Amino acid sequence: MTSMARRRFITANAAALGTLALSPLSAGALNRPEPPRPSGSGPGTGATRGSNFYRFELGDTQLTVLSDGWFTLPGALPGVEISPHEFLALNVTPATRESYLRSRMVPEDDLPLSANPVVIDRGGRRILVDAGWAGETAPATAGRLQDTLEAAGITPASVDVVVLTHGHPDHLGGLADLSTGLPAFPNAEVVLSDVELDLWTGPGAAERLADMPLPVPMIQGVLRVLGDRIRTVRAGEDIIPGLGSVATPGHTDGHMSLIVDGGGAAGLLLTGDAINTIHTQIERPEWLSMFDHDAERAAATRQSLLARVTADELGVLGYHFPFPGLGRVIRDGGRHRWLPAGTAELASW
Ligand SMILES: [Zn+2]
Repeated sequence: MTSMARRRFITANAAALGTLALSPLSAGALNRPEPPRPSGSGPGTGATRGSNFYRFELGDTQLTVLSDGWFTLPGALPGVEISPHEFLALNVTPATRESYLRSRMVPEDDLPLSANPVVIDRGGRRILVDAGWAGETAPATAGRLQDTLEAAGITPASVDVVVLTHGHPDHLGGLADLSTGLPAFPNAEVVLSDVELDLWTGPGAAERLADMPLPVPMIQGVLRVLGDRIRTVRAGEDIIPGLGSVATPGHTDGHMSLIVDGGGAAGLLLTGDAINTIHTQIERPEWLSMFDHDAERAAATRQSLLARVTADELGVLGYHFPFPGLGRVIRDGGRHRWLPAGTAELASW
């Protein structure tokens, strides 16, 4: 969708919804994988701030899901006032959406979302996928990644690569301290898709992003700090052998999801925000969301991604799903359904 088309899209929805009020915001050396640790090694066992991590094995890969905390929408974006019941279902009649969302107890005022970055240890390399939301624009309940890394025994200096699924603040904000101008992971290169980098920094970015309810100056400031540490890939290329990327455009133009090879077992999809709200986007992937840059393209991407997940029987780790965000998707009565992984199943992963 072009910038003008998107502006028309947002304007049209603003007019249709009546309540939508968008406004710009003022805003190395590799450690070998640590052995599994008993503390914090299960969902719900780490209620103390900074202690929420979950570590498991998949074939030759060790994965550690690290909670950055959580935030709410629209609450995390000052100036945006729209009920979750409206922003999750832009193309659905009020009767249809209310029947569905009320039966699933989806809040009408503010929708809580977990944020689950992941550290992948594979082939002697340590890769962090997404980095949470830190700094001045971050909600008070987010920005805990550094605490969680410490609890999990992972030093920032030991991270070789950070992969960004996309450039939104809740994925990129933890990569740099804008008050000092220093990167948070001093030895890491930062990988994102070429299309995504162009979205935020290329010619025409200012015009493309002018109507986005996002802290764009912060995002661009972090990318400036990262500078020549950034390496772009074409979505679809491998990040390292056994960690592939998939083009999943729509949430943002250059969004990519990742697939961890299962080493003979089923692989694991890291959704990023291609599927970002568990409340609707698995059972009703065709519903358009206001928080996708191109809502129609995002809906088409979700549907093809869900078809691939079920065909390939991939496990799924959702960045914004309730921590640790792990589970499977099944077909049920012509629809997809989410099966969260229980502790026993997780222990075998
Ligand atoms: Zn996100």
